[in-house]
Amino acid sequence: MIPPYHGGSRVKIPDLQNSGFDVLPRVVIDERIYIILSLLKIGILSPVDSFHNYEETMEISSEGRMLNGLVWSIPILLPVKEHELYGFMEGDDIALEFNNKIVAIMRVGEKFSLDIYEYCQRIFGTINHDHPGVRSTLEKGNKFVSGRIKGISNYDTHFSYLQPDPDKLRELFNMRGFKTVTAFQTRNPPHRGHEFLHKYSLLSTDALFINPVLGPKKSGDFSDQEIFQSYRVYLEKYLPRERTILMPLIYAMQYAGPKEAIMHMIMRKNLGCTHFVIGRDHAGVGTFYSPYAARDYVMTFTDIGIQPVFLKEAYYCKVCAEISNDDICPHDDSHKIHFSGTKIRSLFLERKEPLQFEMRSEIYNKIVEIRSVKQNSLEIPEEGLFDRSPTVE
Ligand SMILES: [Zn+2]
Repeated sequence: MIPPYHGGSRVKIPDLQNSGFDVLPRVVIDERIYIILSLLKIGILSPVDSFHNYEETMEISSEGRMLNGLVWSIPILLPVKEHELYGFMEGDDIALEFNNKIVAIMRVGEKFSLDIYEYCQRIFGTINHDHPGVRSTLEKGNKFVSGRIKGISNYDTHFSYLQPDPDKLRELFNMRGFKTVTAFQTRNPPHRGHEFLHKYSLLSTDALFINPVLGPKKSGDFSDQEIFQSYRVYLEKYLPRERTILMPLIYAMQYAGPKEAIMHMIMRKNLGCTHFVIGRDHAGVGTFYSPYAARDYVMTFTDIGIQPVFLKEAYYCKVCAEISNDDICPHDDSHKIHFSGTKIRSLFLERKEPLQFEMRSEIYNKIVEIRSVKQNSLEIPEEGLFDRSPTVE
């Protein structure tokens, strides 16, 4: 059955009317925090409706649970600059400013500092500056403000309207009669190994919800446009129309591996999914986490309310002459060709098409086309977001 919202009910933060707030003290936020606001506003991070305070942050970062016992692995933090802190007191209303516009109003709960290295160690398992999540956390300093968000404006960037609405998605699942839905998160265009996982998911649950993460990237990553448009081409031709839904999630990756995998599951639970595919080195970066660290950590929680799916790695077996994995292929490693995101990325740089068993030609061609016309902006038609069926609005 479609699960209830995490913690029981959906949080909705009201729209903010854009007037009368110019006199409030301001805190300038970056794109990452703005994306978090867009997730909070629509209830994808239910039941959280505020930036966490010190006590909650310590509990979450050490236990992977909130003070009320609910599973939650990464605190929602609002970092502030030292000079901004002098402008307001606990109990005041403040304005959060992004790109010179007020995007949210918050009632200040508490000002606090963290031992930021200890925090990084707890969340990322490392304090190494080469880790992008650690680096970005350290850059923002150790001062924070908690507080309940009273309103979030309709100020749109290219992405905020793209966030999926959890109620509408749940309604769609119910209307289609889906009792089980597997969510598949990705940061890459689909290769044949992904396709194997998709088809496995369609064999084992009622529907597949493909949920590419779009938003800020590391250098070398595929662009939002390349990821989303290549998925559209792929779905059109290779997956069953009535049982597959493609919709992006605008989200800023933190590359926190195991801890982030839990957050990925909670967001998909809130979107109404029953299963979530935990990939190899899920939400990892470089060699900071072992390939199965996320799987092992996730398995220590049995009450998240969404089922993790761990699939053995797919590869091309020359004897089977097909994509397979160790559950169904009996052949030894010398016959196997493993998928490598790094290899596929470098083929694109050399303008060489991957082999047919690595990536479908249509996908390769779509990405080459996007690169040749330098489509940098995210052009996703709204009707293409929700559902591919013309019978559903
Ligand atoms: Zn085989």
